[in-house]
Amino acid sequence: MTQILHADKTGVTRAAALLRDGALVAFGTETVYGLGADATNAQAVAAIFHAKNRPRFNPLICHYPSADRAFHDVLANPQARHVAEAFWPGPLTLVLPRRSDCPVALLTGAGLDTLAVRVPGHPDALALLRAAARPIAAPSANRSGQVSPTSAQHVLDGLQGRIAAVLDSGPCRVGVESTVLDLSGLAPVLLRAGGVSVEDLVACIGPIQRGGAHDAAGITLRSPGLMVSHYAPGLPVRLNAATVAAEEALLAFGPVLPGARCLFQLSPSGDTTEAAARLFEGLRWLDAEGGRLGAGGIAVMPIPDGGLGLAINDRLRRAAAPRGG
Ligand code: AMP
Ligand code: MG
Repeated sequence: MTQILHADKTGVTRAAALLRDGALVAFGTETVYGLGADATNAQAVAAIFHAKNRPRFNPLICHYPSADRAFHDVLANPQARHVAEAFWPGPLTLVLPRRSDCPVALLTGAGLDTLAVRVPGHPDALALLRAAARPIAAPSANRSGQVSPTSAQHVLDGLQGRIAAVLDSGPCRVGVESTVLDLSGLAPVLLRAGGVSVEDLVACIGPIQRGGAHDAAGITLRSPGLMVSHYAPGLPVRLNAATVAAEEALLAFGPVLPGARCLFQLSPSGDTTEAAARLFEGLRWLDAEGGRLGAGGIAVMPIPDGGLGLAINDRLRRAAAPRGG
């Protein structure tokens, strides 16, 4: 059963305790209802993808109660400080480089070196974020493929029984998603149009490139979910390995193949949620450790498509795909 909590002091305290325990709590913001989890807890973040039935790991936005807290985890440049001053709290998300000591789980940012951060403009959401006292990852609180929810009832329509609680703060004021602005590169790039207009952003920081996301072959990507350069290891990746060669590092799932000198176990019991929580950490570790030991590649044991297996396999296929230079 999903608890419905009223956004008073008791409800906010309860919702924050659930989040700190690793449970999923939907909460209202000024844009849409978000499906929140402790962003520093990879298992909790994996549970978001499971509850939403998402077929792939796209990077999630991390929510903070203040710009100060956000800039603890990412490196802010002068432009970031400028727009944060002008539009936070509010419907603007900034993509910035992670700090080296950033405690946010790699799964939250889909393994990328950058992180999307936002301070929502809703008093109940801010109260919850303050009480939780940790970054909260939250995509929209709907099943994959359905429209974003703008009331607690919409959330229950899609996620009843799949999440611990929903903090009911009434209908959302803005009703569209946040504007996503990438400030991690040389020039600002608009990744998604949303609650803050491009004109207002331009007035604040000058020219902004639009639709500037390209894939490895230089093709412009239109879908926001695709406008991200996905993390791929430096070593070549071989999928569905039934054996492991002497010079290969191994990404294991379930009972380990014999002969690997360097291995990372995603889940000894073959649990896809646990494996999802450890996926990006595993790829990075094997890349570094395998590289150090002179490995020529990473062999990946087969992972079934059930549960989060579909999303794991989607990401592994991209990691294994030929590089476009
Ligand atoms: P949602 O959480 O469903 O509202 O969507 C988050 C949006 O932010 C998606 O369009 C993501 O592709 C984008 N996003 C999140 N993190 C990053 C990142 N590190 N780099 C680029 N885009 C991002
Ligand atoms: Mg969504």
